[in-house]
Amino acid sequence: MTLTSASFKSYILALTTLFEEKKDELCELDRKIGDGDHGVTMNIGYQAVKETIQNELATQDDISKISVAVGKSFLDAVGSSVGPLYASGYLKGAVAIKNKTELNDEGLYQYWIAFCKGIKDRGKAEIGDKTMIDTLEPFYKSLAHAQQSGESFVDAFQVALAEAKQGMESTKDIVSNKGRSKRLGYRSQGHVDPGAMSAYLMLDTFKSFI
Ligand SMILES: [Mg+2]
Repeated sequence: MTLTSASFKSYILALTTLFEEKKDELCELDRKIGDGDHGVTMNIGYQAVKETIQNELATQDDISKISVAVGKSFLDAVGSSVGPLYASGYLKGAVAIKNKTELNDEGLYQYWIAFCKGIKDRGKAEIGDKTMIDTLEPFYKSLAHAQQSGESFVDAFQVALAEAKQGMESTKDIVSNKGRSKRLGYRSQGHVDPGAMSAYLMLDTFKSFI
């Protein structure tokens, strides 16, 4: 398949709609195990990104440059917590696909694997820490495996998304040992991690664009 720069921008704009709609739900989830701001944070970040896409990037068709600007815009608006993590994802994804105005299967594999690894390297969380890595690591590992087997990206994405969902759902039973919810210990058990949830929603939204 081929993803054009216009489709990439449409995907990012779909994320702004997604996080407007999910703002309250994600905050409610975060109230159970953290400080209750996750939905607001994601919404603030993607509202800023929307501005950037519609103004600064209106005539830009280099996907790596779009991704860099999206990451910077998200970081400027959010600053702490998830800001540097997603910014790392957008920046590392961009480095993997330099000077490309459209992405074929190879580019899509490279982008998404680098995106997730960028977050993993920045955050240093492991599987089972009840963070977004519980969603992102099974996703990119599944993609990397499929890439090596020569599978088409469309097929590989569906399988990887199912792995991501399973990882996200697994956070429900985990006692938190990372981030702000650490102090809640066993009280965090029984609730999906909001960061793992938003990461899954972000990936799930991409399926409409492939
Ligand atoms: Mg929070």
